[in-house]
Parts: sequence; structure tokens; C-alpha cells
Amino acid sequence: KEDAAKLRKSYGAKVSGEDIPLPIGSFQDLVTRFQLDHKLLENLIQQEFTEPTPIQCEAIPAAMYNRDIIGCAPTGSGKTLAFLIPMVQSLIMENKKLKGKRQNVRCLIISPTKELAYQIFSVLSHLVSGLTELKIGYLNKSVAGKLRNKVISSSKFDIIVSTPLRLIDLVDHEALNLSCVQQLVLDEADKMFDSNFVEQTDRILTICTNPKLRRSVFSATITSNVEEIAQSVMTYPERIIIGHKEA
Ligand code: ADP
Ligand code: MG
Repeated sequence: KEDAAKLRKSYGAKVSGEDIPLPIGSFQDLVTRFQLDHKLLENLIQQEFTEPTPIQCEAIPAAMYNRDIIGCAPTGSGKTLAFLIPMVQSLIMENKKLKGKRQNVRCLIISPTKELAYQIFSVLSHLVSGLTELKIGYLNKSVAGKLRNKVISSSKFDIIVSTPLRLIDLVDHEALNLSCVQQLVLDEADKMFDSNFVEQTDRILTICTNPKLRRSVFSATITSNVEEIAQSVMTYPERIIIGHKEA
């Protein structure tokens, strides 16, 4: 507990909410506390991600405890892995229980632009390298076309990364079933809730009908307006703000 307070002070974190889990001090902590898959750890080390960044220290345990998250940390501070690591780990754990029974899409990551969505997909594909039981998809034109023409089924994917419009289009054409989605991440949340995107974002929030849906939003800046909307669709979110004091 005291260590946690010290750690939080050192990276200028303000964390609020109910029952806030202790941060991790290293990726090794994830092995001890959450049985982090050894292949996943190996993939991190291989890419020279040896120590978690502050947003990762806070957001990963929160996600492992299945919390809704409002995460705010500067650009370049590792928000992508902060939401991808617990997402992948929880799927690996669930797969062990399901023993090969295929599910529909379980995780959804939405980003406002194609470039950013593809960037997330690329980080994700490195992270799941060698974890062959996990199927990931980026909804580019070609994949979207195949889904629309029923050449492939959405149950082929465990995790989908997309921009809002492409996703909504597929749902409208009954080419994508999102009723089983357990985790929804809105990246660049300041944009996702601005006037250009808010309608699409609202739509996505209503499409994901699983009552157990865990929602999280990440951004470099979170205005009070965004915060208000996010809070209104979340359940006891943990709010993590990392200051700009990061080294
Ligand atoms: P953000 O989304 O917060 O702007 P990114 O997730 O794009 O930041 O990460 C920024 C950079 O930091 C990327 O090049 C990524 O590879 C790197 N990075 C992320 N996590 C770590 C880590 N734990 N250790 C070292 N580098 C990291
Ligand atoms: Mg980012």
C-alpha cells in the first residue's frame, strides 16, 4: 500500500474510484498476480518492453479486475498496450475454460481514424505472435467486403479493431454480430465523443448488448464533457490520470 502511494507519486498518477487495485511495479508482477501467459510475457520482452509505463502499471490491474476505465495519459505513454495486454490475457484465460468451443467476437477496439486503428492492430499482432488460438481482425476494405458477402463469418474473430463507420455499416448489413462483445475500448476518446463522432459512438455502445460488457476509454486529454458522457455509460469506473511529469 505504501509502495503503491510512492509509485503513484513518482509518476504523478491520480487514481480514483471504488476498490482501486494496487498498481503493478513490473510485468513480472502480472505473472504473480494474474498468471500472465508466459508467451505473452515473452512477446513483451522480445520487443524490449521490459518495464510497464505508468498508465500500464495502473490500467492493467484495473482491467484484470474487470473494471470500467477512464484512462488519461500523454501521447506516447503506452496507452495501446495498457488496454491490449489485459484484453489478450483475459481471452487466453477464457479460452482455457472454453476448451476450443468457438465464440463470437469478444473484444472490440474502436479508433477514430484508419491509420490509428491499423497501428493498434499492428501492436496487437506483435503481442499475440505465436498465440495461434487467438484470432484478430482489422476491418479494412477487403475484410469488410468479405464479411458483407459472407465469405467469412465474424465468429472467425476474437478481437476486432475498426473505425466507427465501417463497423456500423457491417452491423447494419447483418454481417457482424456484436452481441457477445465483453470488452469495448474507445481509443482517442476525446475524438470519439466530439461532435463528429458522438452519434456513431453512441450507436456502437447500444450495439454491444452483452450485459457483462466492460467499457474503457483512453485518451491524452479528457475534457469534462467527455468525462461526463463516459461516466454516464459506465459502472463504477476507475479513473486514471497520469500527469505530464513522466520521465
Ligand atoms: P499512446 O497511445 O499513449 O500515445 P503508444 O501506445 O502508441 O502511446 O506507445 C508509444 C510508444 O511507446 C510505442 O512506440 C510503444 O512501442 C512504446 N511502448 C509502449 N509500452 C512500452 C513499454 N512498456 N516499454 C517501452 N516502450 C513502450
Ligand atoms: Mg494511442
